[in-house]
Amino acid sequence: MPDTLGEPRGEPLFSRLALIGMGLIGSSIARAARHLNLAGTVVAIDRDEETLARSAELGLADAFFKDAAEGVRDCDFVILCVPVGACGPLAKQIAGSLAHGAIVSDVGSVKGAVVAAMEPHLPAHTHFVPAHPVAGTERSGPDAGFATLFLNRWCILTPAYGVDAGAVEQVRAFWEAMGSRIEIMSAPHHDLVLAITSHVPHLIAYNIVGTAADMERVTELEVIKFSAGGFRDFTRIAASDPTMWRDIFLTNKEAVLEMISRFNEDLAALTRAIRWDDGDALFDLFSRTRTIRRGIISEGQETAEPDFGRRRPEE
Ligand code: NAP
Repeated sequence: MPDTLGEPRGEPLFSRLALIGMGLIGSSIARAARHLNLAGTVVAIDRDEETLARSAELGLADAFFKDAAEGVRDCDFVILCVPVGACGPLAKQIAGSLAHGAIVSDVGSVKGAVVAAMEPHLPAHTHFVPAHPVAGTERSGPDAGFATLFLNRWCILTPAYGVDAGAVEQVRAFWEAMGSRIEIMSAPHHDLVLAITSHVPHLIAYNIVGTAADMERVTELEVIKFSAGGFRDFTRIAASDPTMWRDIFLTNKEAVLEMISRFNEDLAALTRAIRWDDGDALFDLFSRTRTIRRGIISEGQETAEPDFGRRRPEE
């Protein structure tokens, strides 16, 4: 599997690419697109002056706009890289300025709600190809991005039935050039799969870190001191952006609630196994879960190094 970005293209895939939201994902796309010559011109759009100034300092784009409607003019590819709750209002804002034949996409972690919020605003002369790069870190902002973020990671596309096949292929080519592997599925299926692989694990992390923080009989110092026992890995996830995750839970409510009720049933079974000394049940489950971890490693989606490849403090 490649571990670096490929060579820059001779001919760019798009003439003018607009990225709305220069955070972790937007700035990573900008870095990769510029490195690989995926667009003749890269336009950075953000509501925050400081973020725009920092993006300019980092050389992330050729042009910078605070006003999204102004920024997307004449762009043949527009990607919304903002929290999912901001996608609908932004689609409305840019609709009147979108070029004929422009491809519009997003990177939202929830697809059903984003599609429902954006689609009604997008003019018929544009092509809407929603996307979700299943790649990220718990960091935010333009300094957090890096060009190899999408390398060997999956990017899920959820185009509606009947969307122009050429537009879907162009979006596929764009993500593949950045090193992603592509899967196409429906928006509701995406939301169900991600509820169990991403959203509920984040909820569990937020909950367990919150519970530990509220415990009176264990001091905060002890929680930090003995965190390597498993808690530390939850704290990494629980440090994820509060706005982004608030929006994810509010917009993927149904799938998340369904997965939580499944989770609660399984937790009740585990509780029973511990209460009744059913070691076989515990051993069986822990063996099955180990196999899943090995599958993730052999798929190249995680490092096999012990302790997640963390360097020791003395190194
Ligand atoms: P981020 O680092 O916080 O960046 C989001 C950017 O969007 C910020 O510059 C923010 O500006 C801007 N923004 C927020 N609301 C806006 C609005 N109403 N209008 C214009 N700009 C606005 O977040 P991110 O991690 O890149 O996430 C962006 C999207 O990617 C989200 O939809 C998320 O679901 C998706 N995603 C994230 C990950 C991940 O691991 N982080 C992975 C895959 C997909 P301010 O600083 O002014 O708020």
